[in-house]
Amino acid sequence: MEMVNLKSQYLKIKPEVDAAIQRVMDNGIFINGPEVKEFQSNLERYLGVKHVIPCANGTDALQIAMMGLGLSPGDEVITASFTYVATAEVIALLGLVPVLVEAKESDFTIDTKEIEKAITPRTKAIVPVHLFGQGADMNGIMEIAKKYNLFVIEDTAQALGATYILSNGKKASLGTIGDVGCTSFFPSKNLGCFGDGGALFTNNDELAADLRMIANHGQKVRYYHDVIGVNSRLDTIQAAILDIKLKHLNEYAEARRSAADFYDSALKNVEGLITPNRIESGTHVFHQYTLRVLNGMRDALRKHLEENGVPSMVYYPLPLHFQKAFESERYPKGSMPITELLSSEVLSLPIHTEMQSEELEFIVEKVQSFFNV
Ligand SMILES: *Cc1c(COP(=O)(O)O)cnc(C)c1O
Repeated sequence: MEMVNLKSQYLKIKPEVDAAIQRVMDNGIFINGPEVKEFQSNLERYLGVKHVIPCANGTDALQIAMMGLGLSPGDEVITASFTYVATAEVIALLGLVPVLVEAKESDFTIDTKEIEKAITPRTKAIVPVHLFGQGADMNGIMEIAKKYNLFVIEDTAQALGATYILSNGKKASLGTIGDVGCTSFFPSKNLGCFGDGGALFTNNDELAADLRMIANHGQKVRYYHDVIGVNSRLDTIQAAILDIKLKHLNEYAEARRSAADFYDSALKNVEGLITPNRIESGTHVFHQYTLRVLNGMRDALRKHLEENGVPSMVYYPLPLHFQKAFESERYPKGSMPITELLSSEVLSLPIHTEMQSEELEFIVEKVQSFFNV
């Protein structure tokens, strides 16, 4: 058994995918082939956003977003401590100051109240992370961003396809609410390619042109470089694969959700466990199915599962404010009690689009047997 089974997913769409890859090879246009534009348009339509800018990976997307918004060294950027390192890494790489903030116990995402406390005159942007497949508090965050005139860059690497209900009652795709949305097509993400890939989203025409320019060596016209850019492209082959998988993205989310429903119903009454909360203001696409294991039993449960052939993972064992790379006097031990607690309690169970009911039953049985249920 694996955390993620990409092979069985591929086998279901093999003829289509193989034909698409063959077509790219026959055409020989490996960079910026027509498939890239096609996928871009189809993703724009799917998300209901004006502009999708494909790039090489999710980390680049975040970097390009910050460059495109004109953030400059010394500017402070607020993000969650309880996230994957990529989010904060690019902030630091650009000479900006990552300001890490506490999580909410209810859904693991950044705490809006704590964002407001962390704002200073140098704050320029907020990067909410839609952790594990559902939205951070976008309504609260957009309100604060408006009040303090800050940019919002959504890290949607784990939540592509999830939706969110805005204050005005309208439904929007995550990643299309802030100034820019960023995502990753890393193979294990909800929409994954067969290598690396990423994209940015925006409804702002001018910003879209800048982001496209930055991703392409800072040029709008070939060999004329207006700004310092980067080289960040989505390969034609990856775009061709993604275009096929995009058609299945809703199905994939449904499959993940039904696996999560099964886990929920079997585990919600187990004493010592908290099953993942689902926010009311949006959908959950279950990039991860993450339990909280109480009373210091997380590592023992993990070991028990491993001995019984059930893989599990800890996302994330060490919050960013405790990582050597981000060490700062700003964050003494105990400065983010919830994030610190969560990182000692979380355990993610296998979840993917091809989970078999026997597999789910087996996993649940092994979790239950640990708690003598
Ligand atoms: C995967 C991920 C990224 C980075 O994406 P890559 O394509 O691997 O560079 C960024 N943020 C979060 C939250 C992620 O899960």
